[in-house]
Amino acid sequence: MQVRAKKEIRAYYAALIQAWGPQHWWPAESAFEVIVGAYLTQNTAWTNVEKALGNLRSAGLLTIKAIRGVSVAELQRLIRPAGYFRLKAERLKLFVDFLDTKYGGSLNRMFEAPTKTLRDELLGLNGVGPETADSILLYAGNHPVFVVDAYTQRIAARHQLLPESARYEETQHLFQEALSAIVNLPVSHVRNNESARRRETPNRAHPPSRMSSAERPTLAQIYNEMHGLIVGVGKHYCRKSQPECDGCPLRSFLPSHK
Ligand code: SF4
Repeated sequence: MQVRAKKEIRAYYAALIQAWGPQHWWPAESAFEVIVGAYLTQNTAWTNVEKALGNLRSAGLLTIKAIRGVSVAELQRLIRPAGYFRLKAERLKLFVDFLDTKYGGSLNRMFEAPTKTLRDELLGLNGVGPETADSILLYAGNHPVFVVDAYTQRIAARHQLLPESARYEETQHLFQEALSAIVNLPVSHVRNNESARRRETPNRAHPPSRMSSAERPTLAQIYNEMHGLIVGVGKHYCRKSQPECDGCPLRSFLPSHK
């Protein structure tokens, strides 16, 4: 079962990257902006996060120093469009406190920590669950961890790769094991494959950003792309109710289609 599932996941990656090309995650100019976005995106749509990030950018607050110095009330006001603004303001302040206390305020030092150590520390922070911790590790720090979201779990269940009740870590382990086996493919398979975007699809990748275009280890790049591609499938085809399997690049892999 696991062997079939891993083979399938590798085939999904190949099919999606062939259909859509790079997705350019994460849309941010700095590692800190990724972290702020990872907090703000909890329980809200990315369009709302963009408004909040735009407010922070206009106010010159997308830096560690600025978040450290701003009042909680002002931070709440600026991130209000992202919802749960009181909680999120408090949590952003807590993150900066953690960074200061544990790593002298340096993201570089923080990301030099071993993946497991840092993941455990992030998970210990108020308001940081596995998806947020892994988004920070992967997209801000280039640590090779795969980000699992509701779309990943939905697709895995609908394609009978895992039961619907699979835990986050179980899904993550399966995808990591599967995708780590393609790390030796030519690098053109995993990034800068713009020519692969040959079909008109409803999927729209983010425009390239400084963070999305940065050099990173191949495995981190594969995990980066796969998460972005899965979000594309989930947003445009694999909706919670009434999935639109016709037209979905993964349709030929549906158990009922075989
Ligand atoms: S929309 Fe259909 S084919 Fe596409 S991933 Fe979901 S279940 Fe599979």
